[in-house]
Amino acid sequence: MQLMAEIPSPGSRSASAGVTRCGVCGTESRHPPFRPAPPEQPPDLDLRPGEPVRSTMARWLQQCPACGYAAPDIAEAHPAAAEAVRAAPFRALLADGSIPPLARRFLACALVLEETGALHAAAERTLQAAWIADDLDRPDLARAWRLDAVALWRGGPPLNPEQTVRVVDALRRAEVFDDAEHTAAALAGLPPPEVVAQVITLERRLIEAGDTGRHTVASALPPPARRPHVSHQRSVARGEGLFGWLRRLFRK
Ligand SMILES: [Zn+2]
Repeated sequence: MQLMAEIPSPGSRSASAGVTRCGVCGTESRHPPFRPAPPEQPPDLDLRPGEPVRSTMARWLQQCPACGYAAPDIAEAHPAAAEAVRAAPFRALLADGSIPPLARRFLACALVLEETGALHAAAERTLQAAWIADDLDRPDLARAWRLDAVALWRGGPPLNPEQTVRVVDALRRAEVFDDAEHTAAALAGLPPPEVVAQVITLERRLIEAGDTGRHTVASALPPPARRPHVSHQRSVARGEGLFGWLRRLFRK
């Protein structure tokens, strides 16, 4: 479900001729509809989608050219978004030329989400900024934003096992191995659902090896005994969770 949430869908109100009216300042701007193809490659352990979705991040968020508000559909705005966009931290972020522009767009989205109390959604967008830093070969920024994402996740409501795996992955990739192992060990002791346990076993091996690299879900999950056609919704209904669904989609 989180994977789906990360992949944007074009806003219904922006469908006609691609013109969208900003929900914060009312300025109209053009944003061509974006409908990504379904992923064909397995996602990373932090659920960054595989190709062809992976390389479309420049189109995941719209950004208002007037006020800088950024969201999957800028026609939609939380009642408190306008105040967040006017506030000094948001203006300072937009003006910060040391941050690559696409990453700034995701951080702008994250900042509004944080200010409106959606801490887990803010964590997702902050992690996505780290993915952009990965692509730009900026490990300093990627590390800082992964740690920011972890802080936002932990500042929000209790995390489920799949979200906790992503916290572990962010900590590992940010080289915070002690916290990563401590968090992984606590999750392994629950114990979590089987597929989560398989992913966390791989995470702990990587932590032990001091491996900060990118790995995919496929490398953690053994192939299923059979591969029926199954939708994510049906898989969730069976209680398999997201990783179980991914295992069916992307077996080795
Ligand atoms: Zn605007």
